[in-house]
Amino acid sequence: MTARFQISAGGVVFRRTGEGGVEVALIATPGGRWALPKGLVEKGESLESTALREVQEETGLEAEIVGRLDPIEYWYWWQEEGQKVRHHKKVYFFLMAYRSGDVADHDFEVEDVRWFPIDEAIQKASYPLERQVLQRVRERLLGSGEG
Ligand code: ATP
Repeated sequence: MTARFQISAGGVVFRRTGEGGVEVALIATPGGRWALPKGLVEKGESLESTALREVQEETGLEAEIVGRLDPIEYWYWWQEEGQKVRHHKKVYFFLMAYRSGDVADHDFEVEDVRWFPIDEAIQKASYPLERQVLQRVRERLLGSGEG
């Protein structure tokens, strides 16, 4: 079966706390889900530029790309001109160090944006593939053990 293929890019924005912990920013979608910020790559735009632009627009945060994370892929149905069209999306994620900005300045299309300690973010994230992305970030920034 054919599917419309889309490419998005986004990021895991993190900041270190004074106590040796790590916090990451999640967005609450209008559908009531907690997710990573991301958006469609525009024509002629690099994955990195898209990721930084979408993170800035959706979360109100300025960040710097410090690494590449594993991409995720999923399929979904979307209504287009009265017809259900199957979509296949690949999302490239980047690890991003927080630089400036406030989550209070988030996009009005996003319900909420909050910083969560990374363990809480892993539990809160609504999509299993994004929980895996966060789990790998945790291992990368804190090591695979506890604390
Ligand atoms: P984008 O942010 O890339 O511009 P969008 O907000 O238009 O995209 P998606 O976030 O891809 O659209 O959501 C389209 C559908 O896919 C929704 O039904 C959503 O619940 C689902 N979806 C979003 N992210 C994931 C994911 N990581 N795993 C599985 N399904 C997902």
